[in-house]
Amino acid sequence: MPVEDKESFPVCRFNRVQTEIARRTSLRKPSTVDEKGKYSGKYALTGLVVCGECGTAYRRITWDDKNGGKVPVWRCVNRLKNGKKFFKCSPTVYEDRLHQAVIDAMNQAFDVENDVKSVLRKSIQNVLLPDGQRLTEHEKKKADLRKEIGDLLDRSFKENDYTKYDAEFKRLSDELSAVSKEITDEQERLSECAESIANVHDILDEIENTDFRLDTFDEAFVRHSIEQVTIVDKNRIKVKISHAESVVIENY
Ligand SMILES: [Zn+2]
Repeated sequence: MPVEDKESFPVCRFNRVQTEIARRTSLRKPSTVDEKGKYSGKYALTGLVVCGECGTAYRRITWDDKNGGKVPVWRCVNRLKNGKKFFKCSPTVYEDRLHQAVIDAMNQAFDVENDVKSVLRKSIQNVLLPDGQRLTEHEKKKADLRKEIGDLLDRSFKENDYTKYDAEFKRLSDELSAVSKEITDEQERLSECAESIANVHDILDEIENTDFRLDTFDEAFVRHSIEQVTIVDKNRIKVKISHAESVVIENY
C-alpha cells in the first residue's frame, strides 16, 4: 500500500465516523402529516408504536393524576375503542417509561453498531502502524547475502580464479543493493509515519473521551432512528431501529 494511503486511512475513517454521527444527530424526518395523518410532528413516536397483541397503533392520551395534573400515557387504539371485548392485554404504557425504553434500546443498538473505539484501534494496528517485521526480514536477508559473498570470495581466493565466479558475484551484489534500498525505503517510511501516528493517538484520545450514549429523549433523533416500537406485553417492548437489529427491553 502506498505511503499516502497508509497515512490518510485512519483520518478518512475518522471523518466517516464523524459524518455518520452528525448525520444521525442532525437529520430529521420531515414533520409533515402523511396520507394517513399519522405524524403530526408533535410527538416523535406517533404512528410508530404498535400493539403486539392486535397490531393496532398506540395513541397518546392523558390521564388525570390524583394531584389534578395530567399524565401522558400510550394506549392501543383498538383497546380504547372496544375495551377488553376482543383483546385482553394491550397494556397502557406511561410515556416516561416508553421514552426510557426507546433510549435504552438505542444505547444498546449503538453500542454494538458504533464500536468506534475498537474499529479505530484495529485500523491503526493493521494499517498504519509501521511494519517492523519487514525491516527485520530485510536485514536478515542482507546479512545472509554478505556471508554468501564472503564465502564466494574465499572460494575464488583458494581456487585462485576470480573470473570463474563473475556472474555469481554480479547476481549477489545486485541482490545486495536491492535489499539495501528496501531497507532505506522502509526506514524512511517508518520515520514519515511517526508524525501521523501521533495525530492518530490524539484522535483516539478524543474518541476515547467521547460518550456516545444517549441520555435524553431527542424527538428529532428518535423520529429519524426508530422504525417501530412494539408493545409486546406488559413486560416487554421491542424497538426496531433503522439499520440495526431489533432490541427487546424487558421490565420497562
Ligand atoms: Zn391492542
